[in-house]
Amino acid sequence: MPAKPTLPVEALSLNIDSYVACTKCAREVSDIEPKISLQDYAAIDVGFTNWGLQVWCRRHQVNIVHLDFGGQQLPADFRRLEKT
Ligand SMILES: [Zn+2]
Repeated sequence: MPAKPTLPVEALSLNIDSYVACTKCAREVSDIEPKISLQDYAAIDVGFTNWGLQVWCRRHQVNIVHLDFGGQQLPADFRRLEKT
């Protein structure tokens, strides 16, 4: 049974303050013409692992970050806001 949401509904909108990016992609995208955003260039997989949550660059086949939950089960909100 899903846990009761702990975040306010406003948290379900885009609230990213600091993007996670592959340094290789960031380096390459600056040389691409016509210009393309890093968001459009990046090919990222995000998912849960035995340790926590991993962000993986599919383009370069490298780890970007792997968050270690330290064995803790953190609250997570999987509700989705539909744009009307
Ligand atoms: Zn990359």
